[in-house]
Amino acid sequence: MKRRFDTKAVHFQRDDGEKNKSKTKPIFQTSAFSFNDLDDMEQYFQGEKDHLYSRYSNPNTVDLGYGVAQLEGAPAGIATSSGMSAILVGVLSAASPGEHIIVPQDLYGGTYQLFQQELQEWGIEVSVVDFKDVKNIEAAIQSNTKLLYAEAVTNPLLRVENIEVLVELGKKHNFLVMIDNTFATPYFCQPYLKGADMAVHSATKYIGGHSDVTAGVLTGHENLIAKAKRKMINIGANLSPFEGWLACRGLKTLSVRMEKQAGNAAKLAQWFDQETDVSVVYYPVQLSEKGNGAMVSIDLGEKYDVNTFFRSLGWIKIVPTLAGVETTVSYPLNTSHRTVPDNIRKKLGITEGTARISVGIEDPEDIIERFSEALSQAAI
Ligand SMILES: *Cc1c(COP(=O)(O)O)cnc(C)c1O
Repeated sequence: MKRRFDTKAVHFQRDDGEKNKSKTKPIFQTSAFSFNDLDDMEQYFQGEKDHLYSRYSNPNTVDLGYGVAQLEGAPAGIATSSGMSAILVGVLSAASPGEHIIVPQDLYGGTYQLFQQELQEWGIEVSVVDFKDVKNIEAAIQSNTKLLYAEAVTNPLLRVENIEVLVELGKKHNFLVMIDNTFATPYFCQPYLKGADMAVHSATKYIGGHSDVTAGVLTGHENLIAKAKRKMINIGANLSPFEGWLACRGLKTLSVRMEKQAGNAAKLAQWFDQETDVSVVYYPVQLSEKGNGAMVSIDLGEKYDVNTFFRSLGWIKIVPTLAGVETTVSYPLNTSHRTVPDNIRKKLGITEGTARISVGIEDPEDIIERFSEALSQAAI
């Protein structure tokens, strides 16, 4: 049948998906999926076909949730539009209005605001306590407590949470445990295998790894992830196919990146500690036998001018994020902890001299030379 111009303009592309198999998975940059006839479509509803509409699922986003779940030893996982939306749908599948959750005081700022500003407004009660002493957590438990939320490694203090202890509490008092595994990554920590019910990631960070994608992943028990997926669909917190594809590409190199970045971080921390007047205030010790992650927080103290230090970093960029392949530095005082009251900030140990370094995959000697140069410029 001969087709006219406008039809040809729309249908010019050959359907070569069957003939030419691409080596890497293509990007399914489509908002929906098509069907041969009504029986074919019915197969989707019978569970024999995977995709209908990309807000529900798409091959590239499903890959990401599945990939991270596999690495964590969890039975199920979904990808969402950001770390924040993954946290939201995870928490909402564990706690309803009128119920109560317990969270640590040294939470990632965005999460703290989600809990304080949104969840409380929707009627979910939130207790913020100091997790360093388990007694504080126990004291906060109520009869309607449904969830204990924590971070495997905190920011920027890099305190390593004792997940097993939280899991024990959860079992004893009958509530769920959800872990933000962003800083630790599945390479260093597998919360599900330690007994946690859900783990959440800002895939924007180490999973994507190249600072070119905003995405989230939630993993855990099948029933909880199914509940969270329903919420993700209803809220419209799905990830786009291209972003899913990018994050999957990042995930493939997670191990080599983490091994190199953690190795560099260990060398840098040791250098600061032994060769300079700067103190390494935080370094995530005893994270895993594979290493201690790739974050180092330092305190420049009294002997260096902070702004001159930042200004003299050369190719080490100042950015309010972390986890890319390039070494970057952030300043918690005017970014992540800008709104934290002075007295709490001081108690947390964040001072005018605190800089948080996300160590990249460059040659460790070059990273050290760069910091050495910046310190000599900034010396008072
Ligand atoms: C960045 C981050 C988030 C939020 O993730 P987005 O992808 O920015 O939404 C949550 N938790 C931690 C620990 C983070 O570092």
